Amino acid sequence: MDYLSRQQQLRRALQDERLDGLLVTHPANLRYLCGYTGSNGLLLCLGDGCTFFTDGRYTQQAREEVRGARVVIAKGALTQAAGIQLPAKSALRIGFEADLTTVTAAAALRKALPRKVTLKPAAGLIMRQRIVKDPEEVQLIRRAVDLGARVYKMALRHLRPEVSESAVAGRLEFAARADGMSFDTIVAGGKRSALPHGRATAQPIPRRGFVVVDSGVILRGYCSDMTRTVHVGRIGREERKWYEAVLQAQLAGIAAVKPGQLAGEVDKAARQVLRRARLDRYFTHSTGHGVGLEIHEPPRLGKGQSEELRPGMVITIEPGIYIPSKGGIRIEDMVAVTERGCEVLTPAPKDLVEI
Ligand code: ZN
Ligand code: ZN
Repeated sequence: MDYLSRQQQLRRALQDERLDGLLVTHPANLRYLCGYTGSNGLLLCLGDGCTFFTDGRYTQQAREEVRGARVVIAKGALTQAAGIQLPAKSALRIGFEADLTTVTAAAALRKALPRKVTLKPAAGLIMRQRIVKDPEEVQLIRRAVDLGARVYKMALRHLRPEVSESAVAGRLEFAARADGMSFDTIVAGGKRSALPHGRATAQPIPRRGFVVVDSGVILRGYCSDMTRTVHVGRIGREERKWYEAVLQAQLAGIAAVKPGQLAGEVDKAARQVLRRARLDRYFTHSTGHGVGLEIHEPPRLGKGQSEELRPGMVITIEPGIYIPSKGGIRIEDMVAVTERGCEVLTPAPKDLVEI
């Protein structure tokens, strides 16, 4: 990873914001800027370089992982150590991650810095950078997506009536043996499939009905996210129509992804298909979201979102319908925005599967 050029880019953004420096503590941002994957870290980025602070528990890890920053092992609070680094007499304007910092932590920060330093809320500065992935990141995401698709396929072999949802989720997670899961695996069968976020429970897979499986793995820090919906038992005519409508909506969403497109237009493309099928009132969430070091990142592909898609963005396209007391269907792929359009990263087929 080219941490120095990321820091350089951040420095330009700081100049635009008329800031002399930035204090970073959010774990994904630390990893992005200097490679650190532990907890209790703080990065102070100034115009002439970055300093990374952590405590004695992470001495070895920090020395092994941190790139592009001087490492300081602090004895007490990290904010205190960072405060000492700042010249006491210059009126610096230092930003902090206002959207990711508690009120208490912000107050502690204020107290730890020299009096002449002005602390400025600087929300989303690093996220604005992270929203576009560099080729190395896209490659890592691709590997996570491939693993995610492989373990879904394995878990599908265990999905049958009377097996519990959590047993299916367990098979999937065991097969993954990844750095972790992006989120609690969703296996929602029968009526529970109408819950957009139906975490796997002890409930058995029903003899008949939809089962939504939504899962993701984390590989070398990068997340994957994928949903497939299968039908247990022979599917009815109406249910088949529902599935077909969601699939067509998902394909329409993907077809709308290209550089310069507004995020809201992608959402509209998917929603329109469901509207024509008179199912849009059951589509209760947005069409997708960015994915990277975190499972939910900008851009949000929702109604009216004005973010312009750019090459290097990696997003999900995941329309779904949730019909109370009947069931739900969601189909989700990860997609990379390319120079000419997009590339679907998720390799798993989407034709209806009856089990
Ligand atoms: Zn998902
Ligand atoms: Zn998702």
